[in-house]
Order: sequence, then structure tokens, then C-alpha cells
Amino acid sequence: MTKQHTAQIGRKRLIDTGSERYYIVDVTCPACNELHIVGLSGWSAIVCSGCSAELHKDGTEIEIAAAFRALGVSQSKWSAYAVAFNAMKQRRVSLKDIQRIALREAGIKPGVVDGRRGDWLAMGGE
Ligand SMILES: [Zn+2]
Repeated sequence: MTKQHTAQIGRKRLIDTGSERYYIVDVTCPACNELHIVGLSGWSAIVCSGCSAELHKDGTEIEIAAAFRALGVSQSKWSAYAVAFNAMKQRRVSLKDIQRIALREAGIKPGVVDGRRGDWLAMGGE
């Protein structure tokens, strides 16, 4: 399984080509220290060319993936949904992202996640 890390994002600087202005940042892989120079916006994760790890812009995806992976090991099913839906409440992740992660990590079908979302709202979650 692909290793996932939170990208270490360094110095942000403005590129001005005359016709375009955008920011670039240094992203360092915490696993192998490979440096990647990428645009600040337009991505949520990149694959490290040094070690093939996924480097995520924020740790939200990693956190939710870990919660879904832990399902059936020691946790109740709601522990993962609580992590996911709380992140969604804070606008750190979309329902579509949660469905993708749940399917990938725990084989949970998108329709099931949708149903849990309904249960969550019915229980007073947001
Ligand atoms: Zn790496």
C-alpha cells in the first residue's frame, strides 16, 4: 500500500510572467527529503518522485483514511464517520472525498456513506 504523508510546505513566492501571476511553494517529502516545486493551488496531493509516497497538502485525508482502515480492528463504525463528518463540518473535506476514501480504505460503497451521513444528521450532527 502506498505510503501517505503530510506534505511539508515551505517558502511561498509569487511568479509574475507579465500575463500570469501565481504562487509556487517548496514541498519537501518527510520520508526521503526530495524537494518538489509546485503551484500553491490546484492540488491536494502529489506523488513523490523520490520514494513514490503520496504527499497530502493537509493531513485530513490521512486522518480519515486511518480512521476507516481501523474499522473492524478495534473501533466501532461511528469512530471513522465521526472523524470524517467532523472534518467535513470544518470544510476540510467533501462528502465525495469521504466516499472515495471509505471505498478505498474499507471497501464501503458510496451509497452506504451517504446513508451514514443521513443517520449522522438525524442524530443532530452537522
Ligand atoms: Zn519521498
